[in-house]
Amino acid sequence: MASSFIDKARITVRAGSGGNGAVAFHREKYVAAGGPDGGDGGRGGSIILQVDDHMSTLMDFRYKRKYAAENGGDGQGGRKSGRDGQSLTIRVPRGTLVREAETGEIMADMSGSEPFVLCQGGRGGWGNSHFATPTRQVPRFAKAGLPGESHDVVLELKLLADVGLVGFPNVGKSTLLSVVSKAQPKIANYHFTTLFPNLGVVWVEEGVSFVMADIPGIIEGASEGAGLGHDFLRHIDRCRLLIHVVDVSGSEGRDPITDFDAICRELERYSPDLAGRPQIVAANKTDVLEDPAALEALRAHVEGLGYPLVEISAAAHKGTRELVKLAAERLSVLPPIAVYEPEYVPKAPKADGPLDIQHEDGVWIVEGAWLQRLMANVNFADYESRMWFDRALREAGVFQRLEDLGIQDGDTVSMDGFEFEYQR
Ligand code: GDP
Ligand code: MG
Repeated sequence: MASSFIDKARITVRAGSGGNGAVAFHREKYVAAGGPDGGDGGRGGSIILQVDDHMSTLMDFRYKRKYAAENGGDGQGGRKSGRDGQSLTIRVPRGTLVREAETGEIMADMSGSEPFVLCQGGRGGWGNSHFATPTRQVPRFAKAGLPGESHDVVLELKLLADVGLVGFPNVGKSTLLSVVSKAQPKIANYHFTTLFPNLGVVWVEEGVSFVMADIPGIIEGASEGAGLGHDFLRHIDRCRLLIHVVDVSGSEGRDPITDFDAICRELERYSPDLAGRPQIVAANKTDVLEDPAALEALRAHVEGLGYPLVEISAAAHKGTRELVKLAAERLSVLPPIAVYEPEYVPKAPKADGPLDIQHEDGVWIVEGAWLQRLMANVNFADYESRMWFDRALREAGVFQRLEDLGIQDGDTVSMDGFEFEYQR
């Protein structure tokens, strides 16, 4: 289906790298040897997600799958810092869940209006102006900028609606939504008309309103992937209340009880949790009711299960006010719309890749890409953070290797430009 609704997309996002620090030396007339004055690299731009209420699908992500923020600029002489890279803001429809692609863990639920930093830009490297010490007057090194965070993520739209309409195609769900709200869904006497979920705000009375979602009709076997419907059920995952629309007219030769049970079975197969959601049964098309006994049989059946039944004719605007009022009454005592808690926890970089250890002029110099990434996450002003760093080094066997090479207490260890005194 070329024009089908896109409500799931996988994208790759990468924040900008930090710029490199500069190696530069200050030169001035009458100054014999200038000092080191290389500036720091700029920070890489971040990837930020932001809700846009003008968007209702994830369509845009079908055409563009890779997103990268700008890198930071390199530092320059004269202690000039490189400029920071521009952050990139990606707009998503409200209700978009962001999952880490590999594990499926939720990183964010974009239901609110707060922006979410999905990838932090890389820190800029230090210029050589930072490394002047009494003994090392002319530092010839500067630090490289760090890479920005990157992720493969799956975006998944779960609409934010209080009430979800469920029922077979053609029973009158779209008609009902158009009658009780200003939404204008497509209505046609044709199965599978609704290919796009529609949202409408239902005004009940001063200060009381709720959001209703009309999703494509569920058909039997949908939860086993037999056709349209299964994918769309996720849109009512958050709904607090379901209005189950049943065609009781008999005009299409349908049996109301069989239909009702079939939809309940589909809900159950998709998610027992959803099947247990409070329901109101809307018996529709009563204006062309052929067999009143069929309606009464349905009423007995659903009331026996504990669901209230409201007789309506969506097309004739009959019973719809009563239905809306009953829905508002139920909603007033139900918990608010579910917001998903993040599950994803950033992991410390794995100790992979070689670590190079050199012993020069009494200083142990430890270098490696992994160490650089690890140190990017350490705040040396913070005790907990230092302990975390210490543990990561111990687990990676760094201390053992230094011991094997003959390091002594009080020796200086240099890592990524930072110097430490070794203590067992
Ligand atoms: P959906 O597939 O469940 O969204 O159904 P629609 O709202 O698109 O309606 C399907 C057909 O049923 C359309 O031709 C509607 O005009 C018709 N319809 C909807 N409600 C009623 C009703 O209360 N009475 C009658 N007679 N027809 C209705
Ligand atoms: Mg419809």
